[in-house]
Amino acid sequence: MGYPTFFIRFFGCNLSCRWCDTLYARTGSAYVAMEAEEVIRYWKKNYPEIPYVAITGGEPLLHEESIPLMEQLVSEGAVVVLETNGSLDISRVPNGVITVMDIKTPSSGMTQFQRWENLQYLKPQDVLKFVIANEEDFQWTLRIIEEKKLYQNPCYLSPAYPFLDPTVLAKWILNSRKALRLQIQLHKFLNLK
Ligand code: SF4
Repeated sequence: MGYPTFFIRFFGCNLSCRWCDTLYARTGSAYVAMEAEEVIRYWKKNYPEIPYVAITGGEPLLHEESIPLMEQLVSEGAVVVLETNGSLDISRVPNGVITVMDIKTPSSGMTQFQRWENLQYLKPQDVLKFVIANEEDFQWTLRIIEEKKLYQNPCYLSPAYPFLDPTVLAKWILNSRKALRLQIQLHKFLNLK
């Protein structure tokens, strides 16, 4: 968080979270079809000094092409972060990529689609992300982290915008005395797109 980052947003998602804030990436037709080479050329030409590349969506892993794209980006020296919703197989994500995998909380309405087998493929640098909309989500998250022993990877808790005040979530985290990390959508607070 805080680094200028080149975002590659894939169109389409297999889930339908209640608080989804990227409807434009799931419905309609506001996308441009591009080859991996074109995307990489665009990044190198326009942002030659920005190594940080986020692969996001929608759900990038719905697209077979996302794998070779990540491989090529890593080989070009990019620091690649994949954001994935946790419902699809992550075993083929290239080694050099940092995976930020969602664990879907009850408020999403999508917990039944969690692919728990993915936990075995997490690398030490990967992150688990929980979007928290209310106290039930928070308590559920504490429970699931214990039950599934998720502390081996950093656990990021992000308030569901605009449903939960980040200050409230920060206090819950502090009171829990657990090694959890608060993650806010910085661009929203800075009024940046
Ligand atoms: S997984 Fe992400 S893009 Fe898909 S519906 Fe949920 S929040 Fe939206």
